[in-house]
Amino acid sequence: MENFTDNALRILQERYLWRKGNGEELESPEEMLRRVAKYVAQAELKWSGKAEAEKWESFFFDMMSTLVFLPNSPTLMNAGLPKSQLSACFVLPVKDNLSGIFDTLKLAALVHQKGGGTGFNFSRLRPAGDPLGSQGGHASGPVSFIKLYDFATEQVKQGGKRRGANMGILNVDHPDILEFIRLKVNGKALQNFNLSVGIFDRFMEAVAEGRDWQLIHPNSRKVAQTLPAKEVWEAILEGAWENGNPGMVFLDTIHAANPLSKIGRIWATNPCGEVPMLDYESCNLGSVNLSRFVSNGKVDYQKLKETVRTGIRFLDNVIEVNHYPTIKIEKATLSNRKIGLGVMGWAEMLLRLQIPYDTEEAVHLGDQVMSFICRVSQEASHELALERGCFPNWEVSAFNPQKVMRNATVNSIAPTGTISILADTSSSIEPLFALAFQRKKVLNSGSLTTEVHPLFKKAVEEGGFPVQEILAEVRASGRCGHIADLPYQLRSVFKTALEIQPEWHLKHQLIFQKHTDNAVSKTVNLPETASPKDIGRIYCEAWKNKAKGITVFRNNSGNEQVIYQGIGK
Ligand code: ADP
Repeated sequence: MENFTDNALRILQERYLWRKGNGEELESPEEMLRRVAKYVAQAELKWSGKAEAEKWESFFFDMMSTLVFLPNSPTLMNAGLPKSQLSACFVLPVKDNLSGIFDTLKLAALVHQKGGGTGFNFSRLRPAGDPLGSQGGHASGPVSFIKLYDFATEQVKQGGKRRGANMGILNVDHPDILEFIRLKVNGKALQNFNLSVGIFDRFMEAVAEGRDWQLIHPNSRKVAQTLPAKEVWEAILEGAWENGNPGMVFLDTIHAANPLSKIGRIWATNPCGEVPMLDYESCNLGSVNLSRFVSNGKVDYQKLKETVRTGIRFLDNVIEVNHYPTIKIEKATLSNRKIGLGVMGWAEMLLRLQIPYDTEEAVHLGDQVMSFICRVSQEASHELALERGCFPNWEVSAFNPQKVMRNATVNSIAPTGTISILADTSSSIEPLFALAFQRKKVLNSGSLTTEVHPLFKKAVEEGGFPVQEILAEVRASGRCGHIADLPYQLRSVFKTALEIQPEWHLKHQLIFQKHTDNAVSKTVNLPETASPKDIGRIYCEAWKNKAKGITVFRNNSGNEQVIYQGIGK
């Protein structure tokens, strides 16, 4: 059993550990992991005996307690509770009538209450001002309903643990698109929503060719307005420049990769974008901590293979023992059995191998590591299908008839916002945010301070540099690129998110996307001086290179910055 850091323990105590008996004593972190392993291993009993279930329980426990793999937060928090809801990701439909809108709002509240996040596409709603038929009056439109959903989310604190998270999408041809794009400009509105414009390829082409663009009424399919595509494009870039919203979701790229296009088209993703899903689907995630797979200066592929295989089995088991908020969600989820195994600690793996993030060597390694994870994940899902049967919609899927699969999707790169703190590593495939930093809003009980990175400290000590001065400087500024005493190679390896050019952020996103059947959640960090045009170039590159979505964040923009470089001298 690895020791959790003080930061991890604070998070666990505030939000994850259960109260025992009289409610005063908390379970220990070890007891939490044993509870999760035991509960998830119970799924084995459907196909084999007690001894087999116990064997997997101990594999699951080992994998989590050595911090090489962790499941998404709801699994850690809820496994073993009556009616335990273990998934992080849901997509719900928003229909164009009042009862549909409120049915979905209720469902979203139930999902949030149990720690899940929800994504919606609001494009089916008629635009604001549209006549409401026999009873008279006018429709309030998607934007007002997004505000309603946001307000409701704010009220349903997840068991006092965290606020809910939502993704709101409006397609780029909806008549209210400009209002949607400007929703977050100048203000504190919509704290609980990420916004993305649903983009079609023909829109990107219209922008590139300087053509007009038509906004279409979602019901009558009549043209509601024609305007230069550039006008919509520039509004998107202004918003993204101001506060990071909206991002883009590339609906045609998602559609082309959907193995279940015969069942339906995908219109939305979960809150952080890593799982595109059909209406009512849910997905559970888990992440392999790459930082723990370097030995003797090399990637330990054998250990990675075993962990990925056990991870896929773990996530498939979660589907079996999960409780779903409604029958519709249960049915959609069990028909396709989507899971998302991803990674965290990518930047730390590079650090341990002394490869700077902003190099082709790093991107090449990303290609190798993720293609390996993808191949092993698919093999593991294939073998589970032989053992347990295919996902029910396999017959109508685009899979090769030779390749039976247990799960319609197997990989997703999640942000790992909290579980990477628990595992004491860098999040997802992001570069180190800083060498010392402070996070706000993770805990109710104050901010979290992350001291100077231990690998940096070690490098400075071993290199015989003036340790005191350098550490003081790094504690204050959070970075080392400007410290002339340090050699170039060391400064390159320890570059942080804002010292890395946005192009390199994108290259990592794209290379991981290439081997990820779901999607990659990534923030392309930009310096404060970046212009809307710079953002436009990134959005275009992302689209051309088959990203499924794209999000940027310009330093010091917006009002929601929660992470700050440096912790003071
Ligand atoms: P964690 O590290 O807590 O497991 P991630 O940061 O990897 O979570 O996010 C994975 C997914 O979990 C998100 O895309 C979203 O669907 C869901 N999620 C994250 N944070 C929240 C939240 N505060 N409320 C609801 N869902 C959340």
